[in-house]
Amino acid sequence: MSPELDLFVIGAGSGGVRAARFAASYGARVAVAEARYLGGTCVNVGCVPKKLLVYGSHYREEFEQARGYGWTVENARFDWAQLIASKNREIARLNEAYRRLLTEAGVQILEGHARILDAHSVELGGQRYRAKKLLIATGGWPQRPEIPGAELGITSNEAFFLPALPQRVLVVGGGYIAVEFAGIFRGCGAEVRLLHRGDLFLRGFDLGIREQLRSELQRQGITLDFGHTPQRIERRADGSLAVTLSDGRVLDTDCVLFATGRRPMLDDLGLEQLPLARDERGYLKVNAHFETSQPGVYALGDVIGRVALTPVALAEGMAVAKHLFRPEEFQPVDYQRIPTAVFSQPNIGTVGLSEEAARDAGHRVTIFESRFRPMKLTMTESQERSYLKLVVDADSDRVLGCHMLGPEAGEVIQGLAVALNAGATKRQFDQTLGIHPTVAEEFVTMRTASRR
Ligand SMILES: Cc1cc2nc3c(=O)[nH]c(=O)nc-3n(C[C@H](O)[C@H](O)[C@H](O)COP(=O)(O)OP(=O)(O)OC[C@H]3O[C@@H](n4cnc5c(N)ncnc54)[C@H](O)[C@@H]3O)c2cc1C
Repeated sequence: MSPELDLFVIGAGSGGVRAARFAASYGARVAVAEARYLGGTCVNVGCVPKKLLVYGSHYREEFEQARGYGWTVENARFDWAQLIASKNREIARLNEAYRRLLTEAGVQILEGHARILDAHSVELGGQRYRAKKLLIATGGWPQRPEIPGAELGITSNEAFFLPALPQRVLVVGGGYIAVEFAGIFRGCGAEVRLLHRGDLFLRGFDLGIREQLRSELQRQGITLDFGHTPQRIERRADGSLAVTLSDGRVLDTDCVLFATGRRPMLDDLGLEQLPLARDERGYLKVNAHFETSQPGVYALGDVIGRVALTPVALAEGMAVAKHLFRPEEFQPVDYQRIPTAVFSQPNIGTVGLSEEAARDAGHRVTIFESRFRPMKLTMTESQERSYLKLVVDADSDRVLGCHMLGPEAGEVIQGLAVALNAGATKRQFDQTLGIHPTVAEEFVTMRTASRR
């Protein structure tokens, strides 16, 4: 029997959709299966709704700052349910946009949970589909710690649909999702405590940025509780939660949000029929063409656990489509200097090496940094500071890393990522004229090294 499809994609998230669309545009017969929501994590319970909630929560500070500019903002009130309803409408619009995009590209959309039967067939809704190649793009899933009462907490998946804003929130975790949700809940008016087992959040980011964010979150009234873990959660008679910590303290809260890592989503995928090699963390192992240990079966995105970011999944999707159907155009994915943002308040934007990573890699570095109150805040009572940093290789003069904590840091760093990819030197940064008056101009005006 000849296979009916050229490619069967499991998961219509960032990577799956990109691979399916481009494969179809190259003339392949493609189907994509989706168990939950078109667009995957990013569109439904990740990047997009997260950023909408960050925008929503930041108005609180903006209303306060507006006073410095002569505005009287009276009776400003916030309605969480309305914010969630607006967000849901926007996401529904995006789901439809994804449906259109796939349909117009000629991709067959199959709604339901797909289960692999063998290297060329998949079962969905009682029907068997055959394809020459399979692509597993099933993403990741939030993990809760294994403690008694963990089911009483929520994860980011549920946080996006909370019917009401909890009065008190305990965010557990030290990654970017923890920091972002702490800011969202605080901005919306909740009392927030961030509990993290390490001594500072955002491990892997530049230390200067992490320390500056610590001050900013404290300034906003977020309680930082480092060096402890939750041991047990119990529900009290009044509906609140009692969280026992590793140091014996018992905290009262209304909501526990676990942002304690993610795992590959391989549940009920049929891997008992088709065992695939996995790494020590459980992620699918793939080669340079994203082929798993089973010839003809490919995997990409969060399920392979390389870099869990949407643009990375998109690049991998593109690479798979080209490898399979336009091999002459195939280019390996470049995992160097991936720019990234954290939508904490203020935002973080970063590309290249942190000072610590540069030193560890043996570079002799020169550090330029600047910490200041952005002009927009000078007429307000806000004490927020921006922090910009350049890590420069002292021998070659190449800029190894650009780091920023400040307004729209992601927007600023995106452009600098192009410069770093082009191999820009500090001298070229210095030769570039600034745009005045902006926060970003500081990147081209820092002349005095703060240390070597
Ligand atoms: C809270 C949060 C915030 C984030 N913020 C950002 C950000 O700001 N910037 C950024 O770049 N990245 C962000 N990310 C990461 C980003 O969302 C992921 O890296 C990206 O979505 C990965 O894409 P993917 O294609 O691998 O998987 P996903 O987008 O997770 O898609 C996988 C899809 O497969 C489906 N699926 C799973 N199993 C099956 C099955 N058996 N049958 C059918 N369908 C199945 C799932 O329902 C899902 O829709 C965030 C993630 C989270 C959780």
